[in-house]
Amino acid sequence: MAVIAGNWKMHHGPADAAAFLTEFDATSVSAAHELIVFPPSISLYAVASSPHRDPRLQVGVQNVHWEDAGAFTGETSAPMAAGAGATFSLIGHSERRHVFGESDEDTRRKVEASLRAGLVPVLCVGETLEERQSGAVERVILRQLDAVLGALRDADRFLVAYEPVWAIGTGETATPADASSAHGTLRARLEEVLGVAGAATVPILYGGSVKPGNALELMSSVDVDGVLVGGASLEPTSFAEIGAAVG
Ligand code: PEP
Repeated sequence: MAVIAGNWKMHHGPADAAAFLTEFDATSVSAAHELIVFPPSISLYAVASSPHRDPRLQVGVQNVHWEDAGAFTGETSAPMAAGAGATFSLIGHSERRHVFGESDEDTRRKVEASLRAGLVPVLCVGETLEERQSGAVERVILRQLDAVLGALRDADRFLVAYEPVWAIGTGETATPADASSAHGTLRARLEEVLGVAGAATVPILYGGSVKPGNALELMSSVDVDGVLVGGASLEPTSFAEIGAAVG
């Protein structure tokens, strides 16, 4: 069983999202796999409530505010996302961290808000190129994970996505060995906190320029339980091809 998740980022408003759903055909994707899309908030309700949505395609929100409601113009709260039909929340995506300056403390509060609203958090972690070149991969991804583990340890379910920042939207991918190494580091920390059996239930996804042509190789890496796909998830055919490619 693998998780195939698509992050649409700031693409696919309600009309384009509806067109995606009409075209998306998951018959080539094994029924054992879990499929999730993260539309922009403006399209969340349209996707979740569409009669054309394949029921296998679950829906998540790309970001939430840490408060449940209030004077926060332009923000979306976790209960609102849940009310619109989201069941997952993407937390700490590299664009949130590096474009919008989100801190580890912000991600912790957003994880807590997600859990309060009954959303399953997908925590994104990953190092920049500079951090990789200075040998800081483990330190960075463990810092990002540790910041939220206290909030996550009692969650019914959560996922982690290892997304090296230098591989997102660049066409560069981690080698299977690099992905296994980072995923192994994350798994070991999860085992320390949740025990071996508990950690084994947490899917760790790889993200960063995943395409139909490289999905299988990345998925075959040790400790890689699925993929988080940006650009290649925008097109219904390529998203389905990635799902089919992983076996
Ligand atoms: C992402 O947005 O999470 C991502 C991995 O993007 P891309 O697949 O385009 O690199």
